[in-house]
Amino acid sequence: MNLSQLHVLVVGGATGGAATALLLARAGARVTLLEKVAQPRAVGAGIGLAENGLAVLESIGLGPAIAAQGRAIETPATVDARGRLLLAPPRPTPRLRMIRRSELQGLLLDALAAEPRIERHFGADVIGAERDGRVIARVDGKTVEHRADLVVGADGVHSQIRTVGRFGVRVRPPGIAYLRALVDVEAAQGVEAWTGAGIFGSFAVGGGTYFFASAGARACRRAIETRDLEALRAVWARAYPPSVPLLGAVRRFDDLILNRVTRVECSTWVDGRLVLLGDAAHAMAPNLGQGANSALVDAAVLLDELRRADDLAAGLDAYQRRRKPAVQHVARIAGSLGALSELTNPVARWLRDRLLVPLVSRLGGDPTPRVLQEPTATLLAIGRA
Ligand SMILES: Cc1cc2nc3c(=O)[nH]c(=O)nc-3n(C[C@H](O)[C@H](O)[C@H](O)COP(=O)(O)OP(=O)(O)OC[C@H]3O[C@@H](n4cnc5c(N)ncnc54)[C@H](O)[C@@H]3O)c2cc1C
Repeated sequence: MNLSQLHVLVVGGATGGAATALLLARAGARVTLLEKVAQPRAVGAGIGLAENGLAVLESIGLGPAIAAQGRAIETPATVDARGRLLLAPPRPTPRLRMIRRSELQGLLLDALAAEPRIERHFGADVIGAERDGRVIARVDGKTVEHRADLVVGADGVHSQIRTVGRFGVRVRPPGIAYLRALVDVEAAQGVEAWTGAGIFGSFAVGGGTYFFASAGARACRRAIETRDLEALRAVWARAYPPSVPLLGAVRRFDDLILNRVTRVECSTWVDGRLVLLGDAAHAMAPNLGQGANSALVDAAVLLDELRRADDLAAGLDAYQRRRKPAVQHVARIAGSLGALSELTNPVARWLRDRLLVPLVSRLGGDPTPRVLQEPTATLLAIGRA
């Protein structure tokens, strides 16, 4: 398909939407981007960019900036509360870079601003859409109608585009909460620890540490319900002493970002001219760090399949046939890891910690290619073509 005839409306300007807009525009499409947040630069904590997401970002020219601003994680291992190895990363270890979300978003926004074929509308809240390509947005209290050949719903786990189309969606009720924060102390362990209170991970980012912790254990849940930072610090100090300088550097409870894990599955990602991408199509548990990376792979594969296809419908169908099984597999593994990491019963944890490594190795083979979903060389080639 010759993309220069195509007008694409991308709803959502975060990782998945911004990458889609950039890739499609550089391939010749005219792109309109609608993002409901008026000034999206300062959102979020940190994010781990894996080999697959890095390849897509490198293909759109962001490699040097990400190398400069992100921090390489050499051995992203899983350990127990005392630092003993539970799961070693595969060899050779695929690349992983930790970066502040605001830095990644800043790089994407700058790239969007520099692309003449992208028209950007921030503060544009999409409230409706039709499968014929019409989209209604609310901007400054006024209703604005757009029309495009293709509407990409990259509007996240609570996607509006998903609710207006027929996608056969199944949203699993929110599971446990995760808290995340950025602090300006350098006390990262560079690992994810599975402890008696759940997961605690801490990684260096430029000028500080990004950490995350699950909040499934009863004492954590209570501390969060009562917004009691001291109680939260005490729970984690008992469960995982390396958390002390990190939670100690959090000034107010409101400086913690809280998200509930929600899993989204759709029987189809395509309805007429509407197509889903990223969390809108397949939000998953965060335990493999593949949510945003998978959104980036979606963006590259969407471009690849549109370019190969004779028409729009064939391209969208090929996109979902290539992406859906691959991402569902990753979401299943992430969900299983999430459940295993949350065991709080000491006997169950003892068994998990003694059996997990042999169990995983008995499953056979290196899981990396299926987790990364597409070969690095393919992803690099799509964006550079
Ligand atoms: C604790 C935790 C840790 C995580 N760590 C990682 C990690 O290390 N690596 C990783 O790859 N993933 C990670 N993830 C997952 C990752 O955050 C998501 O998968 C990723 O952000 C999805 O990107 P997206 O572009 O699809 O959606 P989002 O990032 O949710 O972006 C959606 C965009 O759409 C906009 N929008 C929403 N509704 C509308 C509307 N009606 N109109 C216009 N715009 C709209 C929003 O404002 C937003 O900008 C983690 C998640 C959690 C909870």
